[in-house]
Amino acid sequence: MHCKFAIRGGGHMWWAGAANIQDGVTIDLSSLNETRLSSDRKILALGAGTRWIDAYRVLDPMGLSITGGRVWKVGVWGDLRLVVVLASGEIVNANISSNPRLFKALKGGGNNFGVITRFDFKTFEQGAIWGGFVISPWNSSVQLNQQLQALEKFGNDSERGLDDYSTVENVYVFGPSGPSQIANILVNTNAVARPPILADFTDVKAQTTNTVGMTNISSLALQTGTGPGIENGGRYIWASATYPNNATTLAKIVSLCQESFYGHGKPPTYPGFSLHPVNKSQQNTVWMNFAVTSTGADADEAIVNATETFLRKAREYCQEQNQYEPFVYSNYALPSQDAVASYGTENQAFLRAVAREYDPQEVFQKLVPGGFKLYRRGKTCC
Ligand SMILES: Cc1cc2nc3c(=O)[nH]c(=O)nc-3n(C[C@H](O)[C@H](O)[C@H](O)COP(=O)(O)OP(=O)(O)OC[C@H]3O[C@@H](n4cnc5c(N)ncnc54)[C@H](O)[C@@H]3O)c2cc1C
Repeated sequence: MHCKFAIRGGGHMWWAGAANIQDGVTIDLSSLNETRLSSDRKILALGAGTRWIDAYRVLDPMGLSITGGRVWKVGVWGDLRLVVVLASGEIVNANISSNPRLFKALKGGGNNFGVITRFDFKTFEQGAIWGGFVISPWNSSVQLNQQLQALEKFGNDSERGLDDYSTVENVYVFGPSGPSQIANILVNTNAVARPPILADFTDVKAQTTNTVGMTNISSLALQTGTGPGIENGGRYIWASATYPNNATTLAKIVSLCQESFYGHGKPPTYPGFSLHPVNKSQQNTVWMNFAVTSTGADADEAIVNATETFLRKAREYCQEQNQYEPFVYSNYALPSQDAVASYGTENQAFLRAVAREYDPQEVFQKLVPGGFKLYRRGKTCC
């Protein structure tokens, strides 16, 4: 009756207990693996146990796509309609006309409202795309500044609508003695090779790896989901934050990361982070996806401490500069980050009101401890 449980979709969230449970029952949705395209090719229905690659493999040969994820093995989400099992056992549709408040709440509301069994997507026509990786050694602060300036310029140019099809994920990787590599994952979804808006990234000097070329989303998702630090079975610590897309501020963030991990002798392990430009906020911003591979359970505490120190110092710096952005992207967040509170007081109150409406007994608050909850337990770091 009161057995605690966990809900597992793709099972890709990195922290123990997010989608599984000790001394409880894990509802593993991996057998809900159906992919079904409507006869008019406009709607793709995905079972809640599918991964992005399952969708891309169906759609690529048909010249179609959906708004999906970057890494092939992450569990899916939907943009048109959700089928949800509520705490009462009732099965409902959630979309813009049926249970619209629930539909809105489930966008970012995690496992706080029900178990989603099916996701529907609106498809769109999609031909070949251009993209891949460019990697070069990171051996000077000049190089760092050039890349951060390029990222700032990209944010401003795309905000002005110069190119709606191109994007970049700008990645900084540290090694045993500090800065090691700068990588850029580049994409143009309109099949334009080397688009001018990405020239500062395609033309980086001393490239050690360059995989850019014409491809499709399946191949690119396989490429971005393979490599050191993201293989299956790895032990990760991830974190997330939003920073202004401003080269001066981001250079300071990089130095705070380095100081937090290398400032007290040999670091516990070597961090890295990627910056995703996100426009149309108060200011141009980047979402930071911070990642460290841990060497084992005994190393976790030191790594989490260094990560929290970094995030706290970065937040304090941004607050001093009046550039603080509270949003935390929950898919990348550290468990001690309060992702739900980062949506703002009004949105947090909305989510709690919807939870009271659809789950008055608080089943998903009290019996599902994993994931980011509407009422936080435990410490909040940053
Ligand atoms: C190497 C690596 C690469 C990554 N790349 C990306 C990326 O490209 N894009 C991105 O956004 N994230 C990425 N992430 C982050 C991560 O995969 C996300 O946290 C995402 O939530 C995982 O989705 P999933 O269905 O696989 O999650 P799970 O681990 O199964 O679940 C995540 C949370 O959602 C809940 N949940 C899952 N399915 C349901 C359901 N059907 N109904 C109700 N609740 C449910 C779970 O209870 C859990 O709390 C990456 C992580 C790693 C480690």
